[in-house]
Amino acid sequence: MKNLSVKFKVTLWYTLAMILVSSLVLLTMHSLNNEIIERDISSRIEKTVEETSRQFLGRDGRMRSVPGFVYYAQGVHMALYDANGNSVGGQIPFSLDATADFMPNILRTEITAAGKYYIYDKPIRAQDTIYWLKGVVSVSDENYSAVSSLKTNLLVTIILICIAAIGGYFIISRAFVPVNKISKTAREIADSNDLTQRINIGAGRDEICALANTFDEMLEKIEKTFNREKQFTSDASHELRTPVAVILSECEYMTDCAKTTEEFLESADVVKRQAKKMSKLISELLTISRMDKNTLQLNFEETDISELLGFVCDEQIEIHDTNILLERKIVPGITAKADRSLLSRLFINLISNAYQYSKETGTITVSLSETPGNVICSVADTGIGISQENLPKIWERFYQVDDARTANESGSMGLGLSMVKWIAQCHGGSITVNSELGKGSEFVFTFPKEPHNLK
Ligand code: ADP
Repeated sequence: MKNLSVKFKVTLWYTLAMILVSSLVLLTMHSLNNEIIERDISSRIEKTVEETSRQFLGRDGRMRSVPGFVYYAQGVHMALYDANGNSVGGQIPFSLDATADFMPNILRTEITAAGKYYIYDKPIRAQDTIYWLKGVVSVSDENYSAVSSLKTNLLVTIILICIAAIGGYFIISRAFVPVNKISKTAREIADSNDLTQRINIGAGRDEICALANTFDEMLEKIEKTFNREKQFTSDASHELRTPVAVILSECEYMTDCAKTTEEFLESADVVKRQAKKMSKLISELLTISRMDKNTLQLNFEETDISELLGFVCDEQIEIHDTNILLERKIVPGITAKADRSLLSRLFINLISNAYQYSKETGTITVSLSETPGNVICSVADTGIGISQENLPKIWERFYQVDDARTANESGSMGLGLSMVKWIAQCHGGSITVNSELGKGSEFVFTFPKEPHNLK
């Protein structure tokens, strides 16, 4: 049974159920029919024999002869006997013993090889002697039509059950097509590792179609995640390869070619800068991997955002020794529940980007304000700006609008904004950007003071 397919099992079960129910119905109908027929016979035989017996008795109380009398009425065979049991007229079925004892006015049954009979004997008391009128009805004869209708019903029922079983099997087979497709697709994916495969069952409103479509959606997501992971690994190794190559070549130069202390120091300086770049990248990769795994420890506490942003601005001014002016429009005393270190990372990334993508001179405006429930922070610059076409891509990991400009001493790898977006989401907030190529950009970060939907 275990090895049978589900569609075969279902068909088998409901066919058996139909056979059982139909048999019960047919049997009940047949036995009810029999009961009605026998009840009808018992009332009919008595009535017919009684009425017939009256026709043989004359007004003077003597037996009278009825010429051309028919000893058959209402399905009752009748025979007349004299006091000695000799047949005087009529005929009862041959299989019954014609000389059997008479039982006055008692309805009885007799079963012979030919079938079951109802028998009723009526004594006719004439003046001088006694006659017997015997009435007989064959139950088998009466049942004939019931049996033949049972046979017809049985045949029709068998045909209907066959049609239902074949039709049902066909419908179940059709319904199972998506299930077969699901298992075939799953098997092919397992064998080939090809995540681009889909079930593609199309629109349908039944549960199995819904399952197939959900399966396709899940495959879509798995494929995207898998590709992102692959891209991430390849981008990360690509980014790490450059500083490693530079370090190796500088080391070779130091061991094989450098002669003076200045040359050694120069190479050592390059190695130091590349090592710093690698260290920054590794720490960013670590943070991103923790972000993905949700294992980054978040520490939400009441924080003075104005003060925190002020510190970051001071720090950034100190780091960037340029002609770029950093202007602050920070409303003092704004507090919110936030993770201090993550939030300062967000501010650092936004402000350092503003410095990095500004022209030789320009202004960066850092603003902080509040509404009753939210904190709004904006970092605007008058730098190179971002084209509308590239705007949606800047949040992607390792995306850099201009590789040549960014893959430089600063060690930028295109991870900053993806981290900013994640930190914004962590705080239940959002970040948007407005930018115009050649004119500048403005990043606006809004988050609730009391974050409820924390990531
Ligand atoms: P990166 O480490 O390269 O700065 P980010 O994720 O921080 O990576 O930024 C992604 C890209 O978005 C940058 O390479 C740059 O092209 C663009 N970008 C980010 N901030 C600005 C800005 N203030 N002005 C112009 N372009 C920017």
